[in-house]
Amino acid sequence: MPSDNKYYDLLGVDPSCSEAELKKAYRKKALLLHPDKNPNAGDEFKDVSHAYEVLSDPEKRSVYDRFGEEGLSGGAGGMGGMDPQDLFSQLFGGGGGFFGGGGGGRGGRPQGPKKGKDLVHRIKVSLEDLYKGKTTKLALQKHVLCSKCKGKGGKEGAVKSCAGCHGQGVKIVLRQLGPMVQQIQQTCSDCGGEGEIINAKDRCKGCSGKKIVNERKVLEVFIDRGMKEGQTISFSGEADQAPGIEPGDVVIVIEEKPHDVFKRKGDDLYAEVEIDLLTALAGGSFTIPHLDERALLVKIAPGEVIKPGSIKVIPGQGMPSYRHHEMGDLIVHLSVKFPDSLDPEALGPLESILPPRPEQPTYPENIHLDEHVEMVDAADRKSRSQMDPDAMDEDDEQGGGPQVQCANQ
Ligand SMILES: [Zn+2]
Ligand SMILES: [Zn+2]
Repeated sequence: MPSDNKYYDLLGVDPSCSEAELKKAYRKKALLLHPDKNPNAGDEFKDVSHAYEVLSDPEKRSVYDRFGEEGLSGGAGGMGGMDPQDLFSQLFGGGGGFFGGGGGGRGGRPQGPKKGKDLVHRIKVSLEDLYKGKTTKLALQKHVLCSKCKGKGGKEGAVKSCAGCHGQGVKIVLRQLGPMVQQIQQTCSDCGGEGEIINAKDRCKGCSGKKIVNERKVLEVFIDRGMKEGQTISFSGEADQAPGIEPGDVVIVIEEKPHDVFKRKGDDLYAEVEIDLLTALAGGSFTIPHLDERALLVKIAPGEVIKPGSIKVIPGQGMPSYRHHEMGDLIVHLSVKFPDSLDPEALGPLESILPPRPEQPTYPENIHLDEHVEMVDAADRKSRSQMDPDAMDEDDEQGGGPQVQCANQ
């Protein structure tokens, strides 16, 4: 149940609209509200851009559809995401060219705090969890601004700009190199590059003047049904905090664990199933354990002959698609287990049931039918190297024809 449609309303679209409609709607709104064109509509432009940023990302849109604004990391109204200017130029070709060279836009990002690095974290997810969906908790250690000193490092007034570098953290040093004088930028040794000096006694006890402390943060990662290898879930602004920096995002990358029974291609599942010869010829059933708490009981009608290597489809038993959760198919590759041998005395009924043996082709008179022929298992074949005692010591990995080791299996 969508808890609100605010983002859709902002863009003036229906919640069921397609991505193309969304883009069109945003384009229209953004053109109207862009600060270059309409300096008084600043916040509206931001809001609309934010709404579009969320809805244009299938992952975020799905979260928003289910949980509303609350569900999006960064909480209600979280503007932590992309800069609206950046989003705008990314979509419409940047550089301000869109307004015919009208002033703004060049360089895209306006002044503001630098954004910190994103923290990328890979999580391995079983196919079962990708099938059923799951909320998993992820604990991480991160830097946060010290709450005792509010990230200042010391008491109010105790933090002084470094006199040695005028708060720059670096000094320009002149160095004589033969006839030339070279200007070199060096980290200020007075303040260690911090640009500030805090007297030892005034340093914040919480962070020893470092301004940041380590904190354990637990993120709830919602793995939606149908998510795929390589898909990402972002927690905006949850990466390391540092003074004067807008924290980057924590980006969770889904890694799909290999599965014993199923291989996944898109939304379809593939399984190899071996059935016995009697079932293949005379019908019966087999089961496939599925990814939820079910096993599929598949029936083969008597009289329907299953040939080794045949491929069958069980519709709707594949993976759910991402977002819409439409089910893919399960594709079954059937092999048939033949008995190793049969009692020659008991073969009579087979003669009457199976199609008769084909007739031997007739050969011209000049072709002689040679009966002195013996057929053995390929595993029993005597290779030339085997006859050579020296070659016996060679390693087993030498590719080639069937090897004697196979015979023991
Ligand atoms: Zn502190
Ligand atoms: Zn300094």
